[in-house]
Amino acid sequence: MLKEIIGIIVREIPYGETSKIIHLLTNEGLIGIMCKGAKSLKSPFRATTLKFTYGKFIIYYKENKLSTLHSVDVLNPLTNIKNDIILLSYLNYLTELTLQVLKQSNENIYDDYITTIFKIEEGLDPLIMGNILEIKYLDYLGVGLNLDACVSCGSKANILTIDGDRGGYICKNCYQNELIVEPKTIEILRMYYYVEIKSISKLKISKNVKEEINRFLDTYYDRYTGLYLKSKNFLKKLE
Ligand SMILES: [Zn+2]
Repeated sequence: MLKEIIGIIVREIPYGETSKIIHLLTNEGLIGIMCKGAKSLKSPFRATTLKFTYGKFIIYYKENKLSTLHSVDVLNPLTNIKNDIILLSYLNYLTELTLQVLKQSNENIYDDYITTIFKIEEGLDPLIMGNILEIKYLDYLGVGLNLDACVSCGSKANILTIDGDRGGYICKNCYQNELIVEPKTIEILRMYYYVEIKSISKLKISKNVKEEINRFLDTYYDRYTGLYLKSKNFLKKLE
């Protein structure tokens, strides 16, 4: 059966001398596709079956089995990302993260993932966009944030700061010696959680707030998700 599906290639696996298998991330999950002859110089698939190709794929579809590639129509070449080592590292990291989240959750996270990538391609700040995606993924990883109350006593009043190690908001009474963030950081963190990714068109967030949120999420991910991603370490070194 011929099937048309839109997605992004997230893995390439060599197969034999001239062929390869690609894993396409789509809103139906991951689909494995055999690309016969795609590694040979003459193949029309040589350039269109590379990792991070986003397009419309026409395949001979076999449910729960390897499908076979019929044709590819590239929909967005993601040129800005691919020409910038930092942006490319974000793409790598956010893709690896998405694949990890998919292992633990059946929720459809594809739309949020691909929309985030398009926003980065359009020039929106990759750190902010990445953090917004990370914060949304926490729910699917089973360690969602409580953005309404102090993590220690449950009080909704007098929230003083956020702390990644303690896992969220801390009120005045439960404060020990954590770093005190800007009030704006607390507010923006909540905005990250509730904003619809596709509705974001511009971002005006100060450098300090941006970094405080990133530090919080970085610590929180290390402490609560159990994920260790090489691509994230690489990104950190790069920056
Ligand atoms: Zn408290």
